[in-house]
Amino acid sequence: MKAIIKGMLKRILYIGGCCALPKQIRILFYHSVDNSGSPLSTQQKKLVLITFDDGFKSTYLHAFPVLKKHGFIATIFLTTDYINGFAGWIKRDINLIEDKIFNSSISKKELQKITKASNFPLLTWEEIKTMDDYGMEFGSHTSSHIWLGKTTTEEIMEDILRSKSIIEEKLNKPAVFFSYPYSDYKSETKEIVKDLGFRAACGGDPRADRSANDLFGLKRTGPVPAENFFEFKFIFSAAFDWYIGLVVRVKGMKCR
Ligand SMILES: [Zn+2]
Repeated sequence: MKAIIKGMLKRILYIGGCCALPKQIRILFYHSVDNSGSPLSTQQKKLVLITFDDGFKSTYLHAFPVLKKHGFIATIFLTTDYINGFAGWIKRDINLIEDKIFNSSISKKELQKITKASNFPLLTWEEIKTMDDYGMEFGSHTSSHIWLGKTTTEEIMEDILRSKSIIEEKLNKPAVFFSYPYSDYKSETKEIVKDLGFRAACGGDPRADRSANDLFGLKRTGPVPAENFFEFKFIFSAAFDWYIGLVVRVKGMKCR
């Protein structure tokens, strides 16, 4: 019943949104690509993929072959301390995730699914180099997936610089793009990222970036389940922004 109401709401908003024809940039972002059912995961499917956060191995296993097949490239933001390992920061931060991202309104079952993602494997440097050779872009998502809003300036600088340096050393080219973990950042954080030599940085606001004039606060549309072609078209319409506005207002939920 809930799904039917949601579907109807999307169609009504879409019809209204079609008339708006907004000038907008929609940057998509995903985390893991698998069939686990985790809220962090997107089912393996043929989509236009633009950016990926964290550096999950599934990006290499499932997304990369599809991107290659269709001649697309994407930007992958790496959490460099965890390369060759697992997404251990998720378990470390699970209480903050529950509190700060979901306002403690997430069910225990959903929270367990998120916690399980701590065991998801991440990319190896060999896999990263293979994708780099193909033309994929790699940026920093910090070294340890730090919660920027809860970290001192010194720690933020050290962590980000360490991540940037290792990517540049391994790939022998500048790492110029950055993605804020948990999309939690302030204007000072943007200045730090800028001062460290990045050219642009992404957050996680799902609404379209209508101007893209804040290069250190670019908005992105996060992992949105698109089960059919209408759902996919809906994401690119102005109506999607209205829908997200309603969801955020009703659920009081932030974007990750
Ligand atoms: Zn992340």
